[in-house]
Amino acid sequence: MIARAAVRPRRPPAPALFLDRDGTLVEARHYPSRPEELVLYPGLGPGLRLLQDAGWTLAIITNQSGLARGLFTDADLDRMHDHLRAELAADGVSIDGIYFCPHHPDGVVPGLSVACDCRKPMPGMLRRAAADLGIDLAASWFLGDIRDDIQAGARAGCRTVLIDLGTEPPPTFPDRRPTAVARDTAHALAIVAAAAGLGPAPERYLPPRWLAAVPSLEVAHAR
Ligand SMILES: [Mg+2]
Ligand SMILES: [Zn+2]
Repeated sequence: MIARAAVRPRRPPAPALFLDRDGTLVEARHYPSRPEELVLYPGLGPGLRLLQDAGWTLAIITNQSGLARGLFTDADLDRMHDHLRAELAADGVSIDGIYFCPHHPDGVVPGLSVACDCRKPMPGMLRRAAADLGIDLAASWFLGDIRDDIQAGARAGCRTVLIDLGTEPPPTFPDRRPTAVARDTAHALAIVAAAAGLGPAPERYLPPRWLAAVPSLEVAHAR
C-alpha cells in the first residue's frame, strides 16, 4: 500500500466576506482600546450567518495604527478581539480570521512606525487572508465605511460596498468607487446576499449628498 502523503485535501477557494472593523462591524470610536468600547451594531447576526452557512469565509480586516502610536498594546487588542469574537459567537457567527495592520509611518513605537503594504488602502491584509484561508478574491466582497477600504478591496480584485456613515465625499478615482453603497451594514449584507443569489435584491441607495454633487452618478447607478 502506498502511504498517503501528508497532503491535506484542499477545498476549492471559497468566497469571503471581508469586514472592516470600526464603523462597519462595530460603532465608530476614536482609537478604542478596551473590550467594552467595541460595540457591535445590532441586527447583523442573520446576514452574517446566511453567508457563513453558504460556505463563505468571514474575515475582519482592520487598520490599528494605535499600536504604532503607542495607544494600546497587542495584549489589549487580543482582549478586544476575544470580546468581539464572543459577541459574534453569541449570534451564531464564527469569524475565520482577524487581520490587523499595526503600522503607521508617523508612529512612535520602533519597528511599527513604518510604511507598509498592509495598511489600507493597500491590499496586503486581503492577500494574506486569501493565502491563509483559501479565498477566491474575485468572488469576494469587502465592506467598509471609508474610501480606503474600497480601494483596498478593489486592489485585491474584490467587489465592495461602502457603508454610508456620512463621512465620504463622492469618489473621484475609479478604484475608490464602490460596487454599491449601503445605508448601513445590515443593508450591505443584503446587497452581498442578493449578488450571491442568497436573497432578494434590496433597495438601492446612494448618499443624497453624492447625488447633489454628481448628478451623473444616478445614471451610473441605474445601470
Ligand atoms: Mg472603518
Ligand atoms: Zn501594516
